[in-house]
Amino acid sequence: MTAESNVLPLKTVRAELLERLQEPVVYDLAIVGGGATGLGTALDAAARGLKVVLLESHDFAKGTSSRATKLVHGGVRYLAQGNISLVREALHERTTLLRNAPHLARPLAFVMPSYKLWETPFYGVGLKMYDGLAGSAGLGSTEFLGRMDTMRLLPTVQGEGLKGGVKYWDGQFDDARLALALARTAALRGALLVNYCAVTSLTYADGKVNGLVCEDTQTQRRFEIKARCVVNAAGVWVDALRERDGLALGRPVKPMVAPSQGVHIVVDREFLPSDHALMVPKTTDGRVLFAVPWLGKVILGTTDSPKNRLDYEPEAMQKEVAFILGESARYLRRAPQVSDVRSIWAGLRPLVKHQDDDAGNTKKISREHTVLVSRSGLVTVTGGKWTTYRAMAEDVLQHCMDAHLLPKIAGGVTVHLPVVGADIARPMREGMNDPQGLHSYGSEAGFVASLDGADELLAPGFTEAMVRFAARHEYARTVEDVLARRVRMLFLDARMAAGVAPRVAEILREELEIDPRLDEFLAVAQQYATVPQP
Ligand SMILES: Cc1cc2nc3c(=O)[nH]c(=O)nc-3n(C[C@H](O)[C@H](O)[C@H](O)COP(=O)(O)OP(=O)(O)OC[C@H]3O[C@@H](n4cnc5c(N)ncnc54)[C@H](O)[C@@H]3O)c2cc1C
Repeated sequence: MTAESNVLPLKTVRAELLERLQEPVVYDLAIVGGGATGLGTALDAAARGLKVVLLESHDFAKGTSSRATKLVHGGVRYLAQGNISLVREALHERTTLLRNAPHLARPLAFVMPSYKLWETPFYGVGLKMYDGLAGSAGLGSTEFLGRMDTMRLLPTVQGEGLKGGVKYWDGQFDDARLALALARTAALRGALLVNYCAVTSLTYADGKVNGLVCEDTQTQRRFEIKARCVVNAAGVWVDALRERDGLALGRPVKPMVAPSQGVHIVVDREFLPSDHALMVPKTTDGRVLFAVPWLGKVILGTTDSPKNRLDYEPEAMQKEVAFILGESARYLRRAPQVSDVRSIWAGLRPLVKHQDDDAGNTKKISREHTVLVSRSGLVTVTGGKWTTYRAMAEDVLQHCMDAHLLPKIAGGVTVHLPVVGADIARPMREGMNDPQGLHSYGSEAGFVASLDGADELLAPGFTEAMVRFAARHEYARTVEDVLARRVRMLFLDARMAAGVAPRVAEILREELEIDPRLDEFLAVAQQYATVPQP
């Protein structure tokens, strides 16, 4: 495998990025949105040798792509719904992701406890099918467990009435850091990626999209970009650009996204001191619920509530929190209380509406992605899952080629393309059970650790060097960029993140000579630390 990170990390100097943005270049592909979908598409296109620019209005992965349950999975739930093709594709992509980003993704064993005698054989047979669909891409065989083995693997599981369990394998990853790794790998391949640059309108010639206008949201400086093909990968926000495109053509369009909110709660590891995740196959509202060990904490979630407002910081509803805590209490011996919550965050799923979908019940709407090419040639992609971002990118480029917007170039180039940091002798898979630390930098860990004189320890596993590296090499512009997505402290412990924020702000001020938006971060941290009251 070619190692992308044998070279010194690229610098991400804002002034240089903006200077490139001003050059009179005609790009093959201009991508709107720097989440999993846009970044995956940028990497795929750049790896095929295309000239690519990607604009992100906020920070990379600020939207849904930093708010996942962190599972690289085929989706046991989709198997139960009979969506075999989605599961098969996702299982295949799971293997690819674990191979190409071993410092950011790892196999993880899940245990499904059974409290009724029929549950172990019933779910076990389903999970054997899951193994069968994975075929040679399987990570380990499903096992039927007795009561004692279930309690050994999940030491804090509710023992009363426990009959046994089923153990199966899936994967886990660091979503925001993978997004950054995709961005940086695409940049190494020549793509220009700019965060804090919002696309405000499209440009046309003879009724066909031929570019876009974007604005640096920190200076309000405008840029006009020309491109053969514009891809709208704006997640739950795709309809805004589609509507503009429809108006330009005099053909109003119907919204295609039915957003659905999912909430997660983070508690200390003592609630599930295990290397195994707990999976509840059927909650009282018919969903699945996970308790997943991650970076030294435990993530509990998630929910599925239709949502009309498209906020960048969606707020958890009290009933969602009550649901997660209530369901967790049924399966964990010590029930987590409101006072145990270290962080609480919500994300919006970009589910795609079909003609006969009932948007009032988002649990039923397909999790597959959709690609649409408008009359003007605007290519819109949304839906899908993080796990399948690479397959989605290939599909987007195929649509661009089928619509004659791009020349035909063979795909499959990212199947064996490791991301930045992946060329490590030994994957640091156990790292995801540790507090944050250098493990997620993979082969760049040594470089980060040796940054000149930057050896102040800001919190356990979090150093001054990580902040300086984020500013110099990882596109970070604000305190939030560092504490939410370069390291994951906001998501793990919002109060601790608020505590170190002033020092992070000082370091960023030195590095970037800009206002790193400390007050805005403290307001967001307050939201993540506050459990909504009835
Ligand atoms: C609660 C929850 C749990 C999930 N768990 C999992 C999981 O465990 N595993 C899994 O595989 N998947 C999971 N998913 C699904 C997965 O997270 C999403 O499918 C994926 O992140 C969507 O990525 P995206 O790039 O399409 O959208 P986003 O990440 O939202 O990216 C869109 C980007 O477009 C930008 N943008 C919008 N308008 C403009 C504009 N005008 N100009 C420039 N930029 C713009 C936004 O700022 C945003 O960053 C989960 C989703 C949710 C909500």
